Amino acid sequence: MWPNKFDYARAGSVDEALGMIGDEGKFLAGGHSLLPVMKLRLDAPEQLVDIGGIDSLRGISANGGLSIGATATHADIAASADVQAKCGALASACGQVGDQAVRNFGTLGGNIAHADPASDPPTVLVAVGASVNIQGADGSRSVGAEDFFVDLFETALDDGELITSVDVPDLSDHQMAYAKFPHPASRYAIVGVCVALKMNGATCDHAHVAVGGATVKAVKCGGAEAALAGSTLDDDALNAAAEAVKADIGDWLAGDIAYPEAYRQQMAGVFFKRAVAAATG
Ligand SMILES: Cc1cc2nc3c(=O)[nH]c(=O)nc-3n(C[C@H](O)[C@H](O)[C@H](O)COP(=O)(O)OP(=O)(O)OC[C@H]3O[C@@H](n4cnc5c(N)ncnc54)[C@H](O)[C@@H]3O)c2cc1C
Repeated sequence: MWPNKFDYARAGSVDEALGMIGDEGKFLAGGHSLLPVMKLRLDAPEQLVDIGGIDSLRGISANGGLSIGATATHADIAASADVQAKCGALASACGQVGDQAVRNFGTLGGNIAHADPASDPPTVLVAVGASVNIQGADGSRSVGAEDFFVDLFETALDDGELITSVDVPDLSDHQMAYAKFPHPASRYAIVGVCVALKMNGATCDHAHVAVGGATVKAVKCGGAEAALAGSTLDDDALNAAAEAVKADIGDWLAGDIAYPEAYRQQMAGVFFKRAVAAATG
């Protein structure tokens, strides 16, 4: 299949990219979602602005929290010692994206801009309260991950805006994990759950929980977080929190003929417990 005709330009800087994009343009990062969408004629941008050569968008730095450049690849993030130390669940989620070729080309910025409900990184970013840094013709702004993901394939990005980086808090004092039920063919998440626990001895001081894959967007699970806080993560607390996870995602469920909504909702409770076990094990 062939896409519609388009012009291609490679930007050398963020300002240059913003100047080139125009009304009908799209940024091209790893191309692993945009090019299939264009070949299927689900989108037909007249201009592609390649941001892969912009050095300032690529790095991962740690100064307190993490600042991850928009064009850092999943492989870069999974391999980063800083990400492993400060937000291990994000390194784990990026390491479980697709296959090695997808991880080598796909970028964090492209992944979250595309906002596929079955993506892995958004679930971690929503759980831990990351923020997305955005630059446009009128200036820059920062949007919390929970507000960034609006609905199915819908984000807070306006036309022509560029994600420059993602800020992730330092959770090196938390025990955390990302547990995923991957689609057997694509490896996209049928269900993905992130759990981060701040323990005080045997008691959970507070918890961060989010679910993706089962839902049209990554959803923060406030009910489950409340159920875990102050508990010793005993069976009763985990059962109550798993039920809360299912209730928390009830308004946002996604499904298809192979993996319907009710099945994914049930599996979210199962993978929540697996994430807790992996975090604390
Ligand atoms: C076979 C296959 C399996 C996959 N499996 C998984 C999986 O298991 N889990 C998972 O999470 N993902 C999966 N993916 C998606 C992959 O992770 C990529 O992250 C995703 O394809 C988009 O990233 P990209 O860099 O390729 O973006 P592109 O395809 O280049 O762009 C995607 C969209 O984002 C926009 N965009 C790109 N960068 C920016 C930016 N900085 N600012 C604003 N807009 C931007 C583009 O204009 C476009 O609309 C899979 C993809 C494939 C092809």
